[in-house]
Amino acid sequence: MGSLAKRIAAQRVYFDGDRTKPLAFRLAMLERLETQIREQENAILAALRLDLSKSRAEAYMTELALVYGELREARQNLRIWARTERVRGSLASFPAKNYVYREPYGVVLILAPWNYPFYLSIAPLIAAIAAGNCAVVKCSAESVHTSALIRKLLQAVFPASYVYAAAPDTDHAELLCQRYDYIFFTGSPRVGKIIMRAASEHLTPVTLELGGKSPCIVDESADIKLAARRIAWGKFLNAGQTCIAVDYVLVQRRVKAALVQALGAEISRRYPKAERQESYPKIINRRHYARLAGLIAAEKEVIGGAMNERAAKIAPTLFPEAAFDHPCMQEEIFGPLLPIIVYDELETAIQEIKAREKPLACYVFTRDKRKAEALISRLSFGGGCVNDVLLQIGNHRLPFGGVGNSGMGAYHGRYGFETFSHKKAVVKNTGFPDFPFRYAPFGEGKLKLLKKFL
Ligand code: NAD
Repeated sequence: MGSLAKRIAAQRVYFDGDRTKPLAFRLAMLERLETQIREQENAILAALRLDLSKSRAEAYMTELALVYGELREARQNLRIWARTERVRGSLASFPAKNYVYREPYGVVLILAPWNYPFYLSIAPLIAAIAAGNCAVVKCSAESVHTSALIRKLLQAVFPASYVYAAAPDTDHAELLCQRYDYIFFTGSPRVGKIIMRAASEHLTPVTLELGGKSPCIVDESADIKLAARRIAWGKFLNAGQTCIAVDYVLVQRRVKAALVQALGAEISRRYPKAERQESYPKIINRRHYARLAGLIAAEKEVIGGAMNERAAKIAPTLFPEAAFDHPCMQEEIFGPLLPIIVYDELETAIQEIKAREKPLACYVFTRDKRKAEALISRLSFGGGCVNDVLLQIGNHRLPFGGVGNSGMGAYHGRYGFETFSHKKAVVKNTGFPDFPFRYAPFGEGKLKLLKKFL
């Protein structure tokens, strides 16, 4: 048995001992985790700085604050979430009492990407612990410092037979040939398919939090300055390496010039010489840097585009004359490059989006409430905002997840608890009354009776 297999076997013994199920245990584990995170806060911010050059303020806003929010929500509400739910009976189950029990799956695997390496490893873990599972957590090998720190932190807080932090460079084949009771994966659609294929071997249920090209529509009625300010904010956080960042803008022709100008003004004002700013995030690795440089080189019209190879930084960049057949529109950009595509009729924009994979996020800037409602009802996407961007991730009362190519399943707050819980239906009956017509033999007389009652 390999070392990972041994760890998982030990977790099964731990889980089968029913130790993770009492609510007092789960709450104590969440408290322990929170204490350790708060103690390590400076080290976490320092690791994020080393991996992605995130400023302390940005890292706090986009990683730690969200983790604290999840911890607070789970610790405050776990007793309510975990309650056995009594539901109304049916004629078929009369006179029994009917219940839904939430039970943990068992040993779950959590796989995290490098772009928000702390938040995207710990938030699913909080939900898994709240639901009473054991967990194997595998962080990304790309976010070297944060992944190493998470590993140390988890080793300090939990026994490996309960939560095991696998080495970030664990062999993928070894990782995926194990049997888990649930797999929670955050990453690319390409790897998502590999995960689902492997999971099917053991019929393991999965949540896939994936990515894709998220559009932002700017309608002619929009407040253009507001749209520019918010789009720039959401796009250039983490230098565009955000799964729900605006990937491209679809703007109505009449307001295009005003939007490009307002975006340019936002960039000059808030990101001057960004490629040399310490507080501006860097591109995670050489491969992604080269990929993004290639996209800039392939575009004829470019605003911005300054690069600093030594620091792996790319300044906010606009492609004001982009079109759907350009190279930047063939893959998720995942960097600070923003294609702007013009449309005349909203219907055309809708059809263009419908013709592509369902995005993880969709945003619309408009003052026309009917247009906003029409877009929400006609387009399928994971989640989004009207007159804003990214905020759907910041409220743990909202489910967070994709649809179609951008993923399946959801988490955050109660949705995370539900994701990591099996809903077990239980009917509790007594011996009386015991209706004879349910028992064989089934003659025509019984059919009449059954038709009357069921
Ligand atoms: P990735 O798919 O390359 O890797 C994600 C995780 O899977 C990492 O831990 C990696 O080590 C592991 N992995 C990679 N190949 C594997 C394999 N063959 N078998 C098993 N595990 C494997 O993604 P990434 O480059 O780290 O992150 C970028 C992608 O993640 C983007 O597509 C982005 O949109 C998406 N993303 C989605 C969300 C979300 O919440 N929906 C959040 C962040 C990022």
